[in-house]
Amino acid sequence: MLIKKIKRRIYNLFHPIQGELWCLHRVLNEKSVFDENKDLEISPDYLETKIKHYKANNFDFISIDDVYSKRLSEFRYCWQKKFINITFDDGFEDIYNNAYPILKKYNIPFTIYLSTDFVDRKPLIWWLVLERIVLTKENVVLSSGVIYTCPDIISKRSVFKQLCDLIYNEPDNPADTFRRLFSNYVSYFEEKTANTLTWEQILEMCDSGFCTIGSHTVTHPVLTRQQENEVRREIEESKRIIEKKLQQEVLHFSYPYSFWNEQVQDIVLESGYKTAAMGYGGSCRYNKDNVYKLPRVYLVEEST
Ligand SMILES: [Zn+2]
Repeated sequence: MLIKKIKRRIYNLFHPIQGELWCLHRVLNEKSVFDENKDLEISPDYLETKIKHYKANNFDFISIDDVYSKRLSEFRYCWQKKFINITFDDGFEDIYNNAYPILKKYNIPFTIYLSTDFVDRKPLIWWLVLERIVLTKENVVLSSGVIYTCPDIISKRSVFKQLCDLIYNEPDNPADTFRRLFSNYVSYFEEKTANTLTWEQILEMCDSGFCTIGSHTVTHPVLTRQQENEVRREIEESKRIIEKKLQQEVLHFSYPYSFWNEQVQDIVLESGYKTAAMGYGGSCRYNKDNVYKLPRVYLVEEST
């Protein structure tokens, strides 16, 4: 026990925490009733409270470019100021409506990792469509005829979780699996579940000087389940689309669903990105983290 403690102390001494990349998706007041979706949501008040707390505790809020060029490679003692960069994945419109005003108010740099198919479109956000199906149906009937009965909220929560697990455990991409399993509900596919950002909103946020846009692929697939040419297309094409729209280089990437392997990482590196982030892993430590597998702190708002 004592040896473990000493080893930990020595490790911390040589690999001090340099800071945190916060991993967020949505900022809104109306939360999902299902934990799997609610975990992607925080309220504007919670975001503001967190920012105030960390500012008061002497953290530097800096851009992802500064994290990469100044902080990751620099040794800083544990008593020196740590960094925070706030990041959002996917590209929901509530970033613009609810988070951006707060970030502007406190002069906070932030990163949005965009899935380019989400912008200016109505993408099939399968986890939100599934939520709508489970909430409105007493019996969810899969394409195969298998029935999940969920007349009340308790059973709906359980069925939602089971169906998410079922989708993730299939070998295909989750969106394709969803389409295949839920062919009885195609009319739901067309319903608007959430607004996504427009290029106009993205350009405005970039012009403010606070926002850096990174890539989160084109279609938000599980990259580790795709053919190499498909992986390349997702990683290169999204970079090209954003660069063309913003007229600036895109240097940062995050892996959809946090699925990572070395082959995918190599393609990210070869495509000219400087960093790539996972959706978990905690704080960034000196001389420990692979910049193509950066850990992030997943911010979850506890229910009150
Ligand atoms: Zn994502």
